[in-house]
Amino acid sequence: MAGVLRTACRAAAAFTSRGAFAQQLRQAFTSAVEAPTVWVFLGPPGVGKGTYSVRVAKAFGMDHIAAGDLVRAEMKSGSQLGAEMKSIVDTGALLPDALILKVMRERMRLSSSRGITSFLLDGFPRTAEQADALEEIGNVQLALNLSLRQEILVEKCMGRRICKKCGSNYNIADIYLPATADQPEIVMPPLDPPTACLPHLEQRSDDNEPTIRRRLEVYHAAARPVEEFYAARGTLVDFEITGGIPETLPRLLEVLKGLPSQQEAAVA
Ligand SMILES: [Zn+2]
Repeated sequence: MAGVLRTACRAAAAFTSRGAFAQQLRQAFTSAVEAPTVWVFLGPPGVGKGTYSVRVAKAFGMDHIAAGDLVRAEMKSGSQLGAEMKSIVDTGALLPDALILKVMRERMRLSSSRGITSFLLDGFPRTAEQADALEEIGNVQLALNLSLRQEILVEKCMGRRICKKCGSNYNIADIYLPATADQPEIVMPPLDPPTACLPHLEQRSDDNEPTIRRRLEVYHAAARPVEEFYAARGTLVDFEITGGIPETLPRLLEVLKGLPSQQEAAVA
């Protein structure tokens, strides 16, 4: 729909008749208003996108969609599409856009049919092409770009654990970096998993250091065009994580509540 709107606006600039075109323009605007509101969380693996996006979605009453979980569920389902995805992921490569979009579109359609029209996407889009494709199915009002120092990212990725009994995700990395001349002290203690989960924690097979470093390189190469895509639309907000959840979450919520779109919503 955003594509229709862009086309309509371009045409409107050169066209002021009040006939069929005006009606077409009105329809484009109506559709744009009805398009789901979308926030996207960007940031490298290990930055805490999952942790923060779940909490932010809850605070703002949005539906949280984790692209990685969607893809893993599809791979577990035993479907032909899932098997195709698994063979690609096992090599350490990123999935083709068309496959991720297919799963993502289906999920958004399902939630919309239940009356949920605002979404917080975690782990999507990863490329400028995906960002462009997303414009067709949602109205992206915010792209929050989370960052964290590289050496901490690697440690955080190495510390990821999943409970093979209940499926919950944890991070056992215990990070402390003393302050240097140009960097603040960083304290990021782990969130201790419940004792019931402790015997069942396991590391994903692709969370080993060579794969993590390769994943970060692949991420950064793809991320720059995505950041530029949203910066050009004025929706990119950079946010550096410099501590644990108790200090960081309130600071993040304050930043988000202060955004122009939130202030407009509060006034309306
Ligand atoms: Zn568990």
